[in-house]
Amino acid sequence: MFIPALERIERGGRIAGEHRVRADVCVIGTGAGGGPVAKELAEGGMRVVMFEEGERRGAGEFTARPREMTALLYRDAGQVATTGNVPIVLPLGSHVGGATLVNSGTCFRTPPGVLAAWGERFGLTELTPHELDPYFRRVERELNVSQVPPELAGRNALVVKRGADALGWSGDFVFRNAKGCVGSGVCAFGCPASAKQHVGQTYVPRAWDAGATTYTGCRARRIVLERGQARGVEATTSAGGRVRVDCDTVIVACGAIHTPLFLSSNRLGLESGQLGRNLSIHPATAVRAEFDEEIDMASGVPQSLYIDEFADEGIMFEGAAGPPDYLAMSLPVSRERHRDLMLRFLNLSQFGVMVSDRSRGFVRRRGGRAQIRYDLIDEDVELFRRGIDLLAELYWEAGAKRVFLPVRGHGELTTPDRRPLRDAELRASDLTLMAFHPLGTARADASPARGVVDGELKLRGVDGVYVADGSVVPSALGVNPQVTIMALSTRLAFRLLGKPPPVEEPEPEHMARVAPRNPVV
Ligand SMILES: Cc1cc2nc3c(=O)[nH]c(=O)nc-3n(C[C@H](O)[C@H](O)[C@H](O)COP(=O)(O)OP(=O)(O)OC[C@H]3O[C@@H](n4cnc5c(N)ncnc54)[C@H](O)[C@@H]3O)c2cc1C
Ligand code: SF4
Repeated sequence: MFIPALERIERGGRIAGEHRVRADVCVIGTGAGGGPVAKELAEGGMRVVMFEEGERRGAGEFTARPREMTALLYRDAGQVATTGNVPIVLPLGSHVGGATLVNSGTCFRTPPGVLAAWGERFGLTELTPHELDPYFRRVERELNVSQVPPELAGRNALVVKRGADALGWSGDFVFRNAKGCVGSGVCAFGCPASAKQHVGQTYVPRAWDAGATTYTGCRARRIVLERGQARGVEATTSAGGRVRVDCDTVIVACGAIHTPLFLSSNRLGLESGQLGRNLSIHPATAVRAEFDEEIDMASGVPQSLYIDEFADEGIMFEGAAGPPDYLAMSLPVSRERHRDLMLRFLNLSQFGVMVSDRSRGFVRRRGGRAQIRYDLIDEDVELFRRGIDLLAELYWEAGAKRVFLPVRGHGELTTPDRRPLRDAELRASDLTLMAFHPLGTARADASPARGVVDGELKLRGVDGVYVADGSVVPSALGVNPQVTIMALSTRLAFRLLGKPPPVEEPEPEHMARVAPRNPVV
């Protein structure tokens, strides 16, 4: 764990009055986007202040109990969900480190095919694999990205790998940002071993070491403008006070749900008509299976294996293991069936299906709250049908004796026959879905008519305001997004500092290379 010389935190809970501070840059949000840009700018010599609505949470508070930790670490206790033709739970982070504090740590670079599509569709021709390579390498070094060793992968992954190998499907152990991982299985509920190298434990403390300060418990409300130029940010504190940062550069990094709400409440970013729109979420579900052998999903890295055999169709399979109460919270059954399955916990396996979505949603404020509207289009429903069917096939191949599908009316298979699922008339509302990767609501596009920010992540219509988080990512990626967000945010910092790309960064031995389908809608 990186220990800073000084924890430069000002706690909003202790600021009841007015507080004013001068800086060069104010970064709003300390997640995958905010942390890296704050650290790089601070190391580049700028005076940086970060605002974070949440608190700094540490291993001492992490009990490894999903119910307690969901309430403590997730926004609205993990109850954020989309509305639309199928409700989709969309958990968001809300403390220092943002969603990286609770994420699985899986690291994929932006697939080259996705970058090529950005060039064609959004005019982001500079964002090539070659251009981004030094920034990827820098992020990977900062986070100690390395491959899960088989002995930490857990039997859940090994059983799935057995099925994939038998079918000849491609995949590998996941690359992730961890150091000293002991495979305790609770990445999504705060790492008790401080092994996960999340942003609150890496970038943010390194920013402090370079002189930056984080104001926690401070919700940014207003960007102060003078004649179209940013002059500062005002935040309210959890103690009812106010903090004002006077600065000429503001970086908004509140995440893909809250950045558009923040900008629209400031009447900024509205010119293109795209703010809050183009929301992709990479929807996911899970298939479970029962084996005679003991699996014990609670042991090992929860997301330690991926299968990318069908990535070009838009389907990725990734680990989704965890402790018993995690399974209990997510099983789409109740009463005796729930009890029956939970009693078999040690023999159950669970694996995720993720769909690179062509569906798009939007975010807006309604009645003081975020409304996230997202309808799953038929094409994506069909991808789920195919992904669930394939994963069931894999489980039978691996020796399962029962397979449980997240599809209404098709909950349990006791034989490998999947014709009823294939022949069924499936609607979005028949699926049980979650999503973890919201993107696109302040998308980058070279054309002012189509993008909220330009290719340099500068907000249009005003000077000195930039966006650096998942909201600028203009399309679904088909892979987990944190490295993409961090690389774009690092690049922004280098551009603002006028520094050349960090080409001296070491080349990792090898990295996962996944080729999802062309993401353009
Ligand atoms: C359970 C889970 C598992 C995941 N697993 C993976 C994974 O394995 N690999 C991967 O690549 N991605 C994963 N993700 C997604 C990844 O973590 C996110 O895509 C990424 O963190 C988003 O970065 P961001 O900067 O856009 O937003 P966030 O990381 O959410 O950061 C935004 C921050 O801004 C703060 N904020 C918001 N509004 C304000 C305001 N007005 N004032 C002050 N602060 C504010 C929030 O509190 C938050 O801390 C996962 C996500 C979740 C929830
Ligand atoms: S599996 Fe590893 S990274 Fe995840 S919580 Fe346990 S020790 Fe931390």
